[in-house]
Amino acid sequence: MNKKFYITTPIYYPSANFHIGHCYCTIVSDAIARYKRLDGFDTFFLTGSDEHGQKIAKKAREAGVTPKEYVDKIVDNAKDLWKKLDISYDRFIRTTDIDHVKCVQLIFKKLYDKGDIYKGEYQGLYCTPCESFWTEAQLVDGKCTDCGWDVQLVKEEAYFFKLSNYQSKLEKFIETHPDFIQPESRKNEMLNNFIRPGLEDLCVSRTSFKWGIPVTFDKDHVVYVWIDALANYLTALGYGTDDTTLMDKYWPADVHIVGKEIVRFHTIIWPIMLMALDLPLPKKVFGHGWLIIDGGKISKSLGNYKDPREYIEKYGKDAVRYYALREIPFGNDGNFSENALISRINSDLANIWGNLVSRTVGMANKYFDGSVKNKKCNEEVDNNLINEINSLKSKADKLVDELQISRVLECTFDVLRLCNKYIDDTMPWVLAKDETKKDRLETILYNLFEAIRVTNIILMPFMPESTQKVISILHTTKNGFEDAHYIDDEIFTVDNTPKPLFERIQSEWSRFYFTFRQILAIITLVIICLQIPTVIYLVNTIMK
Ligand SMILES: [Zn+2]
Repeated sequence: MNKKFYITTPIYYPSANFHIGHCYCTIVSDAIARYKRLDGFDTFFLTGSDEHGQKIAKKAREAGVTPKEYVDKIVDNAKDLWKKLDISYDRFIRTTDIDHVKCVQLIFKKLYDKGDIYKGEYQGLYCTPCESFWTEAQLVDGKCTDCGWDVQLVKEEAYFFKLSNYQSKLEKFIETHPDFIQPESRKNEMLNNFIRPGLEDLCVSRTSFKWGIPVTFDKDHVVYVWIDALANYLTALGYGTDDTTLMDKYWPADVHIVGKEIVRFHTIIWPIMLMALDLPLPKKVFGHGWLIIDGGKISKSLGNYKDPREYIEKYGKDAVRYYALREIPFGNDGNFSENALISRINSDLANIWGNLVSRTVGMANKYFDGSVKNKKCNEEVDNNLINEINSLKSKADKLVDELQISRVLECTFDVLRLCNKYIDDTMPWVLAKDETKKDRLETILYNLFEAIRVTNIILMPFMPESTQKVISILHTTKNGFEDAHYIDDEIFTVDNTPKPLFERIQSEWSRFYFTFRQILAIITLVIICLQIPTVIYLVNTIMK
């Protein structure tokens, strides 16, 4: 196998438990990784957590635990969440992992020895109770946002990374590699707003806090943020160790998936770090948009934080995965709302996919005792469906390479939609009444099963659990990506009454409306009953 694929998510900051926004980026990366794996690529999928820094140290102090104890708990929680969402990472890297610590120390020393890192003085606005530096923009009325104390201008000794050494080299690289920064709009933003105006040297060490990786040759300093965090993409492959197997196989990364707020660091600091280390640059950095909840950013303080497990337990992991992958064109900002999630489940998963499977299985049972072969009694109307089945895989390949994940699902569901139309056009229930049309009827059902089988293969990376259910309903063994085309000699034997793939879900509002209507009906009934004596009285009076 010589095709390889290396994909990464950002390493998330575990200052609090992960929310649906973290799930979004991770689900998309997982789907891409799974797709490539099934497509025969030797794939490495990396995710993890960025655990150092003053904010974590402060949170831990407030909680009365050590920083490591603090992040351990959050990381356990995250790993459990990824398990519940079927996230198939090859490594969950933590910046407190011993191999990562060594790798960062090695990189820091290498850059220092080369003259790219030098010692200078950092000036910043410091809050003593919080032990934190703030930028001017982060202050509220000139005071610390967290505790309201006055900040002081403080100077401390620090190491700096001379980004300007590589400015023109980076500019040339970005100009000659149009795919490097995606979406395209972010590329121009980086060039025009940050790189061309001139790169400032970056502060890469601190002495004001201790929760970080110590600089080996200057013990008062810990490595500050970016060299520590970005190096994870190399640590995971054993960079700097004697074992170069993974580095040789997977580097450079095929794509770093990152939130749009950190595109800048991944397309300026990171490539410069790699240039300084004489390593090839990643092929692509893709900045995705933010997922906001019901119109607002997600945060505990806004009160819109919900443990993603609540959605998974209520609607199933595949429904949550499908929604994240389908609802928002990757790259744009998107809104997460429970009502939109419900309507996706109902309209796409239950009505289109689930309904097609149960209709087809139902007809196979009704007309052929559950066993369907290809009678090859084809008509013109079949060609369109068969063509769509056969072109789906190549369409999906192209869209996955462009990271247009929602479009892959759209195309696949177009085929499922077409099947429902095919049923309406061919009217199997009419053919079933005519004994001479039996072969034609069986051919139609065969074509439908083929469409279900092939779309199911394409859907596997996106909804691993439900696609397994379909496989067990169809009892088919042709489920590899190499089988994702129309095959004309399969035999489908289906169970008698398989459970529906997805149940339709009533929204809170429709449940409320339903209850409201029931109450109204009872009240009306009571009123009518109360009127009965009056009616009897009136009738009696008239009769007299
Ligand atoms: Zn403060």
